[in-house]
Amino acid sequence: MQDTIKAKNVPARGLAVTQASDVTRDTLELNADAVIIGSGAGGAIAAYELAKAGKNVVVLEAGPYVPSEKFTEMMAVSMDTLYADHGGQANSAGDIAILQGACVGGSTVVNAALCFRTPDYYLERWGKEFGLTNLTPKVMRPYFEKVEANLGIAPNKAYETSAGAQLLKGGMQKLNLPEGNAHRNIRNCAMTGFCFAGCKSDRKQSMLVTYLPWAVAYGASIYADTRATQILAADGKASGVLAEIVDPQSKTVKCQLRVNAPIVVGAAGPVQMPLLLQKSNLNGNGQVGKNFACHPTLSVTGMFEENVDNFYGATHSLYMDKYTMPEDGGYLLLDAIQDPVEASFQAEPGTGKPYMSYMSKYRNSVRLITLIHDQNVGEVNWNNGAKEITYFVDDKDFQIMKAGLKTNARVLFAAGAKQLYIPTSQKLTIDSVDQIDAVIDSLDNEPARYRYTSFHPQGTCRMGADPDTTVVSPTGETHEVKNLYIVDASLLPTSIGYNPSETVYALAHYISDQINRAHG
Ligand SMILES: Cc1cc2nc3c(=O)[nH]c(=O)nc-3n(C[C@H](O)[C@H](O)[C@H](O)COP(=O)(O)OP(=O)(O)OC[C@H]3O[C@@H](n4cnc5c(N)ncnc54)[C@H](O)[C@@H]3O)c2cc1C
Repeated sequence: MQDTIKAKNVPARGLAVTQASDVTRDTLELNADAVIIGSGAGGAIAAYELAKAGKNVVVLEAGPYVPSEKFTEMMAVSMDTLYADHGGQANSAGDIAILQGACVGGSTVVNAALCFRTPDYYLERWGKEFGLTNLTPKVMRPYFEKVEANLGIAPNKAYETSAGAQLLKGGMQKLNLPEGNAHRNIRNCAMTGFCFAGCKSDRKQSMLVTYLPWAVAYGASIYADTRATQILAADGKASGVLAEIVDPQSKTVKCQLRVNAPIVVGAAGPVQMPLLLQKSNLNGNGQVGKNFACHPTLSVTGMFEENVDNFYGATHSLYMDKYTMPEDGGYLLLDAIQDPVEASFQAEPGTGKPYMSYMSKYRNSVRLITLIHDQNVGEVNWNNGAKEITYFVDDKDFQIMKAGLKTNARVLFAAGAKQLYIPTSQKLTIDSVDQIDAVIDSLDNEPARYRYTSFHPQGTCRMGADPDTTVVSPTGETHEVKNLYIVDASLLPTSIGYNPSETVYALAHYISDQINRAHG
């Protein structure tokens, strides 16, 4: 079922994109069949599927176009150029770093490429609780199969397992915990470990090197440096988008853009999408921005006696999902290699000598992540002209995190770690297995105490049949405005407790089919 894109239409490198530097006029008006806001996981899939169906598609992307050869393979530099708020996006309490990509290709450019199908459990639950009886496992299966084929999603080969993951695998086996082999959207991984900084050699099958060039081959136009500022609607129907083309250096607006289109597709991601709808006065039932979830994660770092050099190899090699379903515990363990920037903000809150001493052991460190299925308790809103992500880890979720950290600690010790660092704002270590329960039981759910990272914001424009409690209908069209569709991670009705990119790819593909059917 893999798509065949005529190779002669897709350049071997680079992508045709209009950037601020290409624009000489201070106003611009375009007409299209469909305008898509955002070029990440959801937007790129929609761009391709709609363009392939013969529609004249315009994609607006707020972030810059950074061709792969300009990726620096330095995390600090990449955060500045490729991430939302230069990597500094956080919840209102400032204790959860909420990472998102902000560039042509969106978060798929900087993500770790780990892919899971949406578990049947959630598809069935969404049917019962949200009336999404259309998204059955049977209906969704061909969508997963298609994106898997198109993006080369496949299990890691044995040689791709990083050195730290090998140790963790041994730890899991000793404890009789089943280890899962990561599936990734990567072809011929070079195992440099730079996924989070962008894949310089285009092996990661991000939207930048797959669906966006394919969409362009079918005639789609992409505008980078172009932030949508308002969704236009008349008589309850979408009619286009207003946007600003901003010079990335001076941050000044170079051009006011208007795109007239009878189909508007929102794919700005779960933080910006609700903000844009709110700004466009499209929040009739007050649900837009609510139900934010983000899969908070904490990493326990284990120090080993020998150098492990856990910075080469697959970014994710293995996972442990025995306790992932909410009824079973609600947490997932994931191995991840770490570069010095990540290592430095994870575990040692001190400065000076304590920090230097910790970082001098960087080559001996291995981290294991606990990711939790959280309760959609947050909100995204405007506060005096600035975005605000109000989200605190729920008390019940914190108990789940503690259970995950305990398993995580046991695996690290079983793998041979000699000391563990718990990511708290005051230094906290565990020196032996028999201390695990006491140390972790003593943790309270306090704000600004833990060093959470979220890679998976979701849920702010929930999909469901009830127009009073959800934002988007089962076919992806907003309840409020006809012909306005949403295809990004804000759709997810509940947290899914697994990395969500494949879910977004498949849902965006499903909704694109609904759009093509309704607008043949
Ligand atoms: C560091 C990192 C690692 C990750 N690792 C994994 C992983 O291994 N596996 C996995 O499954 N998931 C992973 N994810 C998450 C996954 O990439 C996202 O869930 C997915 O990309 C979300 O898709 P989206 O379409 O909602 O948004 P994005 O892919 O984030 O795309 C949204 C785009 O919209 C643009 N935009 C925002 N506002 C506007 C506006 N007003 N006008 C125009 N454009 C706008 C943004 O700049 C951005 O490019 C990771 C994410 C990050 C940040």
